[in-house]
Amino acid sequence: MKLERILQNQGFGSRRQCRQLIELGEVRIGGEVVDNPGADIATAGLVLDIEGETWTYREKTYVALHKPAGFECSHEPKHHRSVYSLLPHPLVVRNVQSVGRLDVDTTGLLLFSDDGAFIHNLSSPKKHVPKTYRAELAEDGSEALLQQLLAGVDLIDEALPVRALTAQLLAPRSLELSIDLGKYHVVKRMIAAAGNHVVALHRSGFGGLTLGEGPLAGVAEGEWVYLEEADLRQLH
Ligand code: URA
Repeated sequence: MKLERILQNQGFGSRRQCRQLIELGEVRIGGEVVDNPGADIATAGLVLDIEGETWTYREKTYVALHKPAGFECSHEPKHHRSVYSLLPHPLVVRNVQSVGRLDVDTTGLLLFSDDGAFIHNLSSPKKHVPKTYRAELAEDGSEALLQQLLAGVDLIDEALPVRALTAQLLAPRSLELSIDLGKYHVVKRMIAAAGNHVVALHRSGFGGLTLGEGPLAGVAEGEWVYLEEADLRQLH
């Protein structure tokens, strides 16, 4: 593939901007400057050095972010910064989108991709991918609260009761639960419907991926990592 086209589809700007980067000698492959925008380059396993930063060529890109509180899951945030401001610019140019959303005050695992089928698949209610949350509660939790969540609670605008797949108390006011649907404020609404109140919410897991473990070990708040094929298999 022509080098200028590679840069363009990896998110390094318009065709003109990519040509310019190349002609200015800002692109190296295997340590050598390649300053011909038309150079024919094999993309398999390609590692590029662009303005001193290393980039691996990716046909599609998959990213896991540890979202801090205070960021909106929107390209046009209203009151806070955008989660997209936490990702490197080329990924934003590639138009990665989040897989579902987390509330502005929710922290934790948020996935992004520019693979529409992947996003659609993971967001589909038919897929039943479990997500795990840790909710800090306003009041002490109880066995009755857990049983209510597991049995299912009625939410306005949901035809059927919404139930947690698992629910356990980690501490009197700390509840871990998993659910397989992604509706607006769903965890907060479920816990409110069961008579308690969420004061802080954190998503610790998505499918088989858990923050702090495996490929997500050491991903601190505000940090992100690429997900590789083996990681993606853990999502289903
Ligand atoms: N449920 C909520 O209430 N908020 C989130 O951010 C995610 C799930």
